[in-house]
Amino acid sequence: VENLTKSYPNAGGAPLTVLHGVSFELAAGDTFAIVGPSGSGKTTLLGLCAGLDRATSGSVWLNGIQLDNLSEDQRAAVRNQHVGFIFQNFQLLPTLTALENVQVPQELRGEKGSAATAQALLERVGLGKRAHHYPTQLSGGEQQRVSLARAFANRPALLFADEPTGNLDPDTSDTVVDLLFELNREAGTTLVLVTHDLELAARTQRTLRVRGGTVQTDVRNQPASSQARA
Ligand code: ATP
Repeated sequence: VENLTKSYPNAGGAPLTVLHGVSFELAAGDTFAIVGPSGSGKTTLLGLCAGLDRATSGSVWLNGIQLDNLSEDQRAAVRNQHVGFIFQNFQLLPTLTALENVQVPQELRGEKGSAATAQALLERVGLGKRAHHYPTQLSGGEQQRVSLARAFANRPALLFADEPTGNLDPDTSDTVVDLLFELNREAGTTLVLVTHDLELAARTQRTLRVRGGTVQTDVRNQPASSQARA
């Protein structure tokens, strides 16, 4: 990420600039937390890194691909191939069952016979018996775990998670966090988390603190061999 700025249109006023020249580099396989006060630009930064939105200026390189000049469709193709995303509000498709939601990334890649894989992923997040429930029939924690299984289904090189534990009770939160780090350890998935939970941030290898749209600190938490990878 190089010298990234983001401004949003502001009806009747000057554009609102929420990121001011943010730069950092992540190594493949790193675990990384973005922390900072509410409104400091964390979700905006995550969305730009994941190719969900486009920067106003500056550059994002994702797995060697420069995102800045790609069309919306080209960015979607890069996301489908490289990125998993866990949203704060889950963003499951309401008309699809849990199983069908988990199958979406595989179907986007044109893979057949994905039901068995999706079922196995639901088992892994403890929801094997809920495969045919619709999102409205699931609790918040269950929906979050379906969204995690869906992110796993993409076998992403990078997983971006926005407040993955924000709406969860402590036990479910522990389960979700353990699964995230498992994915990092087992598949080498680069993990980028936005969180207000400083204990969770401390489990990652690096913490970027954002304030007022700039990077305040960029701290290495621990060597790669300790806790998160134990
Ligand atoms: P929180 O911790 O509360 O989720 P955050 O650090 O993730 O906050 P962002 O969601 O990135 O912050 O928002 C940063 C600023 O950008 C906020 O002032 C917000 O109001 C503004 N903002 C975010 N999205 C938009 C948008 N689509 N249009 C206009 N302003 C926006």
